[in-house]
Amino acid sequence: MEDFVVEPCLEINEFEENAPRASFNGLLRDAPSGNTSVVNALSQQLIYQINLIVPDALVSFDDLDVKLGDAAYPFVPPTAKQALQKAIQNRGKRLVVNSAYRTLAQQMLLFKWLNGRSPVARPGESNHQSGLALDIEDREGWLPFLKGSGWQPLAGDPPHIDYQGAGAKDLREATIKAFQQLWNKNHPEEQIKVDGQWGPKTESCLNRSPAMGFEKAPWDDKPRALRLSRPLMEGSDVRKLQQKLKDAGFAISVADGVFGPETGRAVKEFQQRNSLVADGVVGAKTRELMA
Ligand SMILES: [Zn+2]
Repeated sequence: MEDFVVEPCLEINEFEENAPRASFNGLLRDAPSGNTSVVNALSQQLIYQINLIVPDALVSFDDLDVKLGDAAYPFVPPTAKQALQKAIQNRGKRLVVNSAYRTLAQQMLLFKWLNGRSPVARPGESNHQSGLALDIEDREGWLPFLKGSGWQPLAGDPPHIDYQGAGAKDLREATIKAFQQLWNKNHPEEQIKVDGQWGPKTESCLNRSPAMGFEKAPWDDKPRALRLSRPLMEGSDVRKLQQKLKDAGFAISVADGVFGPETGRAVKEFQQRNSLVADGVVGAKTRELMA
């Protein structure tokens, strides 16, 4: 990867850790300062859109033995995940990840909130938008287990590692493109250039984007598999799923659009009743039977 950007990752991690998750329904520019998970729903749309631009660029590693910070999106390329899995197995210890993939919306907030206090990279320029970066605890202890797998420490940034092994693709341009596409999909009256470059126009549009996500979501065209995940899946597709389950008499107290444990249990029950594998994952088969 070219041009590594050194950020004060430890400081950023601590800033987010000390701020509780807030619920907020407004535009990004008005989001209350604190934990960037405040833009969870928008962030999930952005991540999904990136995978439409670069197929399988980002896979979740939330199924590994990892402890995740509230605002950490556990996404890396498949090969980088395999390397993590091996290291965790070999060490026999849980990996604590305080930051991983950081969406353009999250970086925008950190840039705004922390600028002046510490040198946070401009949105789209952080290593954490490359899809190849993690901030982990006990980096020195992990390095021998990650050695030779493509994961490298970044000098001057104590918790930070970057993946440079097989299958590494820098997603920073795609990160900006994903936002630009999503904006255009929702704003036929105010089209912006999809060039993957950060500029005043893109910044202005991002500031005016809804924290709860755009009305036209990327999964409207190509449904995503819904499941209990970390961070919790959130969006219009989850709300529709919950409403269907609720209407069919399954135990859903409120269709809030957040896929929590209750939704997971209802999905498994639905699958059992319909002789499907009760894995709690709403893929093509389960979706079909629900229609
Ligand atoms: Zn970092």
